[in-house]
Amino acid sequence: MKNITRFFTTVFLLLLTSPLMASINVFSCEPEWTSLLDELGGERINSYSATTAYQDPHHIEARPSLIAKIRRASLVVCSGAELETGWLPILLRQSANSNIMPGKPGYFEAASVVERLDIPISSDRSLGDVHESGNPHVHLDPRRIQIIAQALSKRLSDIDPQGADYYKQRFNDFTQRWQQAMKQWQVQAQKLKDLRIVVHHRDWVYLFDWLGIEIAGALEPKPGLPATPGHLSMLTKTLTAKPAKIIVHTPYQNPRAAKRLSQLTNTPVVELPYTIGGTDQVKDLFDLFTVTIEKLNGALK
Ligand SMILES: [Zn+2]
Repeated sequence: MKNITRFFTTVFLLLLTSPLMASINVFSCEPEWTSLLDELGGERINSYSATTAYQDPHHIEARPSLIAKIRRASLVVCSGAELETGWLPILLRQSANSNIMPGKPGYFEAASVVERLDIPISSDRSLGDVHESGNPHVHLDPRRIQIIAQALSKRLSDIDPQGADYYKQRFNDFTQRWQQAMKQWQVQAQKLKDLRIVVHHRDWVYLFDWLGIEIAGALEPKPGLPATPGHLSMLTKTLTAKPAKIIVHTPYQNPRAAKRLSQLTNTPVVELPYTIGGTDQVKDLFDLFTVTIEKLNGALK
């Protein structure tokens, strides 16, 4: 009996002192940040994503279950640049958790540490649901992921200083694998350079910027607005004069407009994963870029 007690005491003490014990709860707004956090934080963190690839991150309901999750978080990681403006402020307000308010170390916006594209010259709301801080869909450029990883790794160390060495080692390991993967992706995506692609929403700006792809048009007449027959016929005219190779949309967008334009212009439609879980094969950030490039290449055959 004494031995058993001693055994359990030892196990308990080991668990308490283990450097690998998950010590911080991280709430991320989108699955891409959960994947990055798992890379950087490993077993020291519990990560949770508020959304899946099948939910539109611009429009989420601030459900009580999300409030319960964010209340227990030591760190909140979101895209920022107003992507979550319709729901994150409500969650933060309801959380009663002062550590994760904007400006605090427990609040991290990925878009704020990288250069953003699509910053509007004027803030004219008649232009639609424009993101005034620029395009927030920054996770689709692996170069920006690298910069975000560095800032996020540092933030994990700030919040959990005991794990600093662990985070540093994981960041270095991630960087090595990521740089290697980026080289491969560049080679695999060579045929995509200078291609013209129609998008549903401008979610793809950063991916296309990285790969040298041109946006031939958007199915949304204005950001956030659904495609109209008038807009589709205008797009058809544009594409007849200067064709596009592919029409892309995400899992969270209704494919109807893409299919209609495909019929009108005889252009193939491809659903790209957009984030982790967007297809069954995409289990982490590495898969996301591998599968995206595979799918785009596949559409050219
Ligand atoms: Zn957007």
